[in-house]
Amino acid sequence: MKVKLARDILKANDLLAENLRGRLADQGIVSVNLVGSPGSGKTTLLERTLEHLGELRASVIEGDIATALDAERIEQKGVPVVQINTDGTCHLDANMILGALDELDLARTDLLFIENVGNLVCPAGWDLGEDLRAVVASVTEGDEKPRKYPRIFEKASACVLNKVDLLPYVVFDLERFRKDVSLLNPEAPVFLVSATDGTGVAEWTNWLEAKLALKRSQR
Ligand code: MG
Ligand code: ZN
Repeated sequence: MKVKLARDILKANDLLAENLRGRLADQGIVSVNLVGSPGSGKTTLLERTLEHLGELRASVIEGDIATALDAERIEQKGVPVVQINTDGTCHLDANMILGALDELDLARTDLLFIENVGNLVCPAGWDLGEDLRAVVASVTEGDEKPRKYPRIFEKASACVLNKVDLLPYVVFDLERFRKDVSLLNPEAPVFLVSATDGTGVAEWTNWLEAKLALKRSQR
């Protein structure tokens, strides 16, 4: 009997992810892996982000256990989108992204957004070959998420705190949240956003655009 160690599977994923990163770099694309709990507002954030991009061309990969509901929403924005249904798997892996890329026109893509399966645990361990990883949290989830799920915050390039329009109605210690994120990850900016009323979306998209400009200047 051969026992396949989780370690080996992760190592194979990392190699594939490195390969993907090189392929996207050759095309001058910046890829963004959006991670966060179910209901944190990843898809709504993505909708607002796409509206703000102006001339920049986006493509989207949607990851869900089931349905094409999120891809249908993105399609309404006129943006090329591929839905991956993981059929029970609670995260995306690099191999799934590799398959989805065949369906997208990379020559017409500046920013590639990947919306991961809603989950604060294992997406932290699966490199998708992305340049940037943004963890989306929302004030309705409570301020203790960085303390309870430190790894996903440690490995993020940025944190988007969504639904800030609801702050007056929920128990959420914003200063505590900010402090906990900065203790885990001093480099990561925290964007205060409401994807429903548009607060903070410009700051977030400006950051993405700056990252794209930086990557292209280094080619
Ligand atoms: Mg979604
Ligand atoms: Zn998983």
